[in-house]
Amino acid sequence: MKYDVIIIGSGPTALWTAFNLQKENLSIAILEKNTFSSGGLMNDCKLNLSPDICMDIEELKITRKQAEEYIKQIDDKFLEHKADKKLYGTNTKEIKKWKTRTERCGATLVEAKQRHIGTDNSIKLIKSFKNELEKNNVKFFLNTEVKEIEKNFKIKTTKGDFSAKYLVVAPGRSGAYWLREQAKKLKIKYKWGPIDVGVRIEVLSETYDPITEIIYDPKFKFITKHHNDKVRTFCTNKGGKVRLEPKNGNFTLINGDALKNHKTPNTNFALLNTIDLTEPYGDTTEFGRNIAKEVNRLGGGKPIIQRIGDFLNGKRSKLKTFFDKNKNYDMVTPTLDIKNQVVPGDITMALPGRIVDNIRDSLILLDKIVPGIIHPANLIYAPEIKFYDTKYKTDKFLETNLVNLFVGGDGAGKSRGITGAALNGILIAQGIKNKL
Ligand SMILES: Cc1cc2nc3c(=O)[nH]c(=O)nc-3n(C[C@H](O)[C@H](O)[C@H](O)COP(=O)(O)OP(=O)(O)OC[C@H]3O[C@@H](n4cnc5c(N)ncnc54)[C@H](O)[C@@H]3O)c2cc1C
Repeated sequence: MKYDVIIIGSGPTALWTAFNLQKENLSIAILEKNTFSSGGLMNDCKLNLSPDICMDIEELKITRKQAEEYIKQIDDKFLEHKADKKLYGTNTKEIKKWKTRTERCGATLVEAKQRHIGTDNSIKLIKSFKNELEKNNVKFFLNTEVKEIEKNFKIKTTKGDFSAKYLVVAPGRSGAYWLREQAKKLKIKYKWGPIDVGVRIEVLSETYDPITEIIYDPKFKFITKHHNDKVRTFCTNKGGKVRLEPKNGNFTLINGDALKNHKTPNTNFALLNTIDLTEPYGDTTEFGRNIAKEVNRLGGGKPIIQRIGDFLNGKRSKLKTFFDKNKNYDMVTPTLDIKNQVVPGDITMALPGRIVDNIRDSLILLDKIVPGIIHPANLIYAPEIKFYDTKYKTDKFLETNLVNLFVGGDGAGKSRGITGAALNGILIAQGIKNKL
């Protein structure tokens, strides 16, 4: 099947590429390996409406002002499709107090306006996005996994061969490794960038409410005491659940989300350590994959859960004592099933020592800003790793050295969240329009 534009993946990068090309009289196809559309847009769907989050404007070669304009366009599209109008992060007086308090403790709080759609509502929104595109003749091929991209833009999929004039590859984090293999073969230029490796913390919502009631998804940044490394909080889900990402090869990663209409008593967020490797080994993707495999190996094939009390004391958590009343361990109930989905164990044994030090330092610092975070009953899950480390060499419209092949989104190291990925789509569409 022949199309003017083929987009691999159906996440926000793909949708915004298509939104911005749908009126151009081009035949457009979106190929998605899952049986449902729109990639990571399905999960939680917090929109961070700031150039300081989810994107790197230097990497994207755009100014802050341009980024703000694009973010406004993206937000408007969500609102046009009936996203919740409630905007978080507008109480400037309270935010200022929190920023001062954070700075006094030796950390930084990044401020942003945010919107929360929720996993329950994002499904409706995705349907509405898809309807608009289909009305404008954009074709969705679900359950269609791209296996190989050939140099002449012949694309081999599980549903037969396609070919395209312009190819947009946006396979997200789950497809990042596959993209790298294709890039090697096609001699597309890329380099390794930093990777985020860490854990997910789960606490009673009342512990984190003082901050989440002011900023829905607070981004605290720490420079750690022992190693001067960067750690940050990320992806906070008030009243949400810790989630298992779909198995990626031979490991499972931890993540989290929240529904808009049904809340749990818990809040979870990621604590991520940014790791940059240089000489003699720079392959951050393989480094991250090996950590993920090691944690899963120690968990008998599953991610590990640990009580923060055990984590800080360097002791493993055990199924038998996981709810020990003497230690108040019955105060926080995990939202993942400790018999089937995760395994009580020892994260300090599974993650590299430097990362463990950094997580410990950051937790202690965060507890000064939001007291109660290191209550022994609180929970810590691993591995949480963000594979957006392979960065492709592109021009400002995200076209690679292989002419007419564009890459975008998390899988290409060009975004770290929904608004960033959507912004990539706008740039790619502009790049294609410039060639028409
Ligand atoms: C549980 C969870 C919660 C999250 N919550 C938030 C949040 O609240 N806010 C936020 O900003 N970000 C959040 N994120 C991150 C966000 O989802 C991503 O940053 C964003 O979706 C990246 O967009 P993308 O277009 O790069 O790729 P994705 O959205 O990942 O889409 C890529 C798509 O490509 C498909 N694909 C991969 N390989 C192939 C192939 N070979 N052939 C065909 N299709 C392929 C995948 O199945 C996928 O559907 C969350 C992620 C997860 C997992």
